[in-house]
Amino acid sequence: HNAKEQGVEIRRYIPAMQMKAKERLKLENDLRRALERDEFYLLYQPKVQLETEEIVGMEALLRWNHPKRGIVSPNEFIPLAEDSGLIVPIGEWVLKTACLQNKQWQLAGYQPICVSINLSMRQFLQPNLAGKIHSILTDIGLDPCYVDLEITESMTLDKETAFDQLKRLKELGVFISIDDFGTGYSSLHYLKNMPIDRLKIDRSFVSEVMEDSNNAAIVSTITSMAHHLKLKVTAEGVENKEQLQFLREQHCHEAQGFLFSKPIQAAEFETSFLKKAPLGASL
Ligand code: C2E
Ligand code: MG
Ligand code: MG
Ligand code: MG
Repeated sequence: HNAKEQGVEIRRYIPAMQMKAKERLKLENDLRRALERDEFYLLYQPKVQLETEEIVGMEALLRWNHPKRGIVSPNEFIPLAEDSGLIVPIGEWVLKTACLQNKQWQLAGYQPICVSINLSMRQFLQPNLAGKIHSILTDIGLDPCYVDLEITESMTLDKETAFDQLKRLKELGVFISIDDFGTGYSSLHYLKNMPIDRLKIDRSFVSEVMEDSNNAAIVSTITSMAHHLKLKVTAEGVENKEQLQFLREQHCHEAQGFLFSKPIQAAEFETSFLKKAPLGASL
């Protein structure tokens, strides 16, 4: 991969919905071959604990290096992968790659941190998902406490299915976060009852938090609700110090965003953000 990812990502953004059927089919065929051609890779974005300013985690974010189009955004190809069912093998590749990377960093003597992995709807609805994740973790030898799975509110609309699935995942010992929180349709009733660990406040609220008093009210309400429900709360899309200061005042636990770092390659993440574990720390 090249300099593109270091700075601004250059992407030719064509929403899948607006693409001509023929083009869509072509992209879907390319997607079908992308795994065997090794065209996917993961970037990592640090998650910072606000009280200590320490890096406590990272989110794995998928990229597709298309031979002709260049780097394709997940917003563009995840919906295609979801429609075609390709998301299942692709999602498994993401799980394996992110867990293996995390284990390799631990073996290299770095202080262990948690990796957050995004799940898609189809993946989440697989009845044997917990079994699959269990075997990935045991094959790699990664402690489940270093894995956090991100789902969205829309995946929990079928309450019973979601509850059973989340319970199975929680029994593995992994963490569960609700991504893009505030943009879906979750009821407070479901929040009270679902076995989850964390809310991630959607970037749309955080980005305008200093300009829009309604956004400030929403961020502050979600944060305080999370505290009362004994959930962790992470703000996404933090881009400036004013936003960070506001989040600190609200006692938001963690934050991610360009203020700290864009999503970056594993090698850069390692040199910029990982710390060596104290000598004698056992794995
Ligand atoms: P997400 O999980 O909500 O990830 C956050 C997105 O916001 C990422 O976009 C990240 O690059 C971007 N971001 C982070 N900080 C900032 C900031 O300060 N400002 C701005 N403007 N943007 C920021 P990205 O990497 O393009 O991913 C978009 C979405 O694609 C993700 O949203 C997630 O829903 C999905 N996605 C990414 N990787 C995967 C994956 O492995 N599997 C699945 N199923 N979905 C994925
Ligand atoms: Mg996410
Ligand atoms: Mg998000
Ligand atoms: Mg998002």
